[in-house]
Amino acid sequence: MPTCQSCQTTWSYKEAMKAMWTLDPVKTCPHCGARQHISKKGRQRSILVTLFVPLVLLGNIFFDWSVGTAFLWLALAAVLSILLTPYTMDLSSEEEPLF
Ligand SMILES: [Zn+2]
Repeated sequence: MPTCQSCQTTWSYKEAMKAMWTLDPVKTCPHCGARQHISKKGRQRSILVTLFVPLVLLGNIFFDWSVGTAFLWLALAAVLSILLTPYTMDLSSEEEPLF
């Protein structure tokens, strides 16, 4: 779960989810109002979780799913990666370059 680097408060699942949906890369802490950035570590983790989604399509090679079944698994993987995002989110007070 993300922890505010300004007030050291750990955000709840709901708060992290809400922050995730704002397109602004700068998240505002709901506890102290400090501007928080997604840390390099957090971004790398979210990329890994996102990569998991197309990996599901590889299952199609082994199980020979129909288009409907493949789509269902893809949708399930996408929902799962969204639901897991609050757990992978990591905050930083400073903006960190990804590379
Ligand atoms: Zn805070």
